[in-house]
Amino acid sequence: MSCRNCSGEPQVLCSSGQLFLQPLWDSLRTREALLLSPFFPVLFSISTYVGFCLPFVLLDVLGPRAPALRRYKIHPDFSPSARQLLPCLGQTLYQHVAFVLPVTLLHWACSPAQLPREAPELPQLVHHLVACLLLFDAEFFAWHVLHHRVPWLYRTFHKVHHQNASSFALATQYMSVWELLSLGFFDMVNVTLLGCHPLTVLTFHVVNIWLSVEDHSGYDFPWSTHRLVPFGWYGGVAHHDLHHSHFNCNFAPYFTHWDKILGTLRSSPGPAW
Ligand SMILES: [Zn+2]
Ligand SMILES: [Zn+2]
Repeated sequence: MSCRNCSGEPQVLCSSGQLFLQPLWDSLRTREALLLSPFFPVLFSISTYVGFCLPFVLLDVLGPRAPALRRYKIHPDFSPSARQLLPCLGQTLYQHVAFVLPVTLLHWACSPAQLPREAPELPQLVHHLVACLLLFDAEFFAWHVLHHRVPWLYRTFHKVHHQNASSFALATQYMSVWELLSLGFFDMVNVTLLGCHPLTVLTFHVVNIWLSVEDHSGYDFPWSTHRLVPFGWYGGVAHHDLHHSHFNCNFAPYFTHWDKILGTLRSSPGPAW
């Protein structure tokens, strides 16, 4: 049996989960040349990152003229200056061009990507997405604890990320090249090990970039991710801000279970609103 996708190509009959995502996937596949370009991963990563940072940068600029925003700020009296914002943005762009792009080109040359015709099943996409986030969280937790417990590793590779005690969105990727490449490696190794569909890989990258930007945004909104996930399973911006203030707690970027197990979990006092 066969059905036709949006581009009219015959294909194996889709399940209901695939049917849900097939139109989206068919639409993305019409831009196959862009998706398979060796430059796409870096362009996608930078544009998604800057796109997620921009609303928070705008809020920071508007902050002094909009007192109502202050109640959502973790540090109400702090607003990053242009002298803080621009070097962060400049370093992110430089590191992506000088280091991430060559690594991506090498990976593209060694194993060119292919786009399957069928979209992933929705439950499989969700399952892989959650698995990738949990694995990334565990890997970065181990990396992060190691780079705080070994003074040489901290001084050489991680200290630069702690230069901003009160974090802001564009400080998310203000880090050493080693830290940036380590995060990129954790990103890629999980989707490869799990055999994720390219649509799942894109979704994971978008979610991962959003969560990391939210972690550093300095804003604790009623709709922040840690308020949507029940039972205190997710630390998010409030927890990561405490890590930037105190250094010795909340090493996991997203979830709370690893810090609970290691005894390094520190809870935030809660919002003023
Ligand atoms: Zn951080
Ligand atoms: Zn740290």
